Amino acid sequence: MSSPSIRTAQDDIIKSAEDKRSYRGLELNNGMKILLVSDPTTEKAAAAMDVHIGAMSDPWELPGLAHFLEHMLFLGTEKYPSENEYTQFLSQHGGGSNAFTSAEHTTFYFDVAHEHLEGALDRFGQFFLCPLFNKSAQEREVNAVDSENKKNLNNDSWRLLQLEKSTADPSHPFSKFSTGNKETLETIPSSKGLDVREALLKFHSDYYSSNIMALAVVGRESLKELADMVVDLFSAVKNKDVVIPEWLEHPFAKEKLMLRADVVPVKNVRQLNLTFPLPDLQEYYRSEPTHYLGHLVGHESEGSLLSELKAKGWVNTLCGGAKLGAKGFSFFIINVDLSEEGLSE
Ligand SMILES: [Zn+2]
Repeated sequence: MSSPSIRTAQDDIIKSAEDKRSYRGLELNNGMKILLVSDPTTEKAAAAMDVHIGAMSDPWELPGLAHFLEHMLFLGTEKYPSENEYTQFLSQHGGGSNAFTSAEHTTFYFDVAHEHLEGALDRFGQFFLCPLFNKSAQEREVNAVDSENKKNLNNDSWRLLQLEKSTADPSHPFSKFSTGNKETLETIPSSKGLDVREALLKFHSDYYSSNIMALAVVGRESLKELADMVVDLFSAVKNKDVVIPEWLEHPFAKEKLMLRADVVPVKNVRQLNLTFPLPDLQEYYRSEPTHYLGHLVGHESEGSLLSELKAKGWVNTLCGGAKLGAKGFSFFIINVDLSEEGLSE
């Protein structure tokens, strides 16, 4: 590896003996981490980019901005200004794409017929270099976000997620409404004189920094050819030395506990969900203490919690385990499905 843009390269990546693919890890001089995967037999090539920033970093006055930005990146860049360019290129070459925004990550990915990886990557890479945030696209795309939210309103999991946010400490970023809708991204900001396009540009310029991005690419090409394809393109992404946000306060402090919420579901489901606040246990990932705890709580043998509840005819399944929060805090959950009798008990 001799490119001046590469800080470190790693070829000794541990893999399964059955795994015929070859791997290379790179760290670019701008801090971006890249995993290259060469598979001479693959029909499709693919790539994914994670930006370690998400909805918890939305400005308080613009709920859903990170998610809206995720949508807007698909709709034109300086190099490829046409709104459909990226999506059309992929669909014309047997591929497709998607993206999602979580509490602290925004992830973009695509696949494409293997011979079109370079063209797809070039269009994809521009998301992180020179998005346009075209005003007319913005006015239309806010409707897409709005209908996504409307669809979520009829979904029990999304409703429970929002209930959890709404019962958290309202000053904690965990409580933010992360999807956004037309009201939070257009009506309210325009009534307050807030320029959403400016906010999109600022969010991109503040947080879309190479040092908190990680890219994975798989293709038929050799590792050397894959490296040549990505290194120059992604070295151009600016490093703004963004510090990954950390939330040391838990969104469920003591006064937010001991809360019971009864929910009328949309679908005919009966569940009991218990959530306990935990600190961030990421540093113990090798020993996974919550895995032990989940194993004990979720055990199905005689004398276990599940066998007792089953014997009474109250539940059929029980699962216990860690639930990801964000950097700084996490949760432990116990979820059971209830029989009609279980519900009334
Ligand atoms: Zn979306």
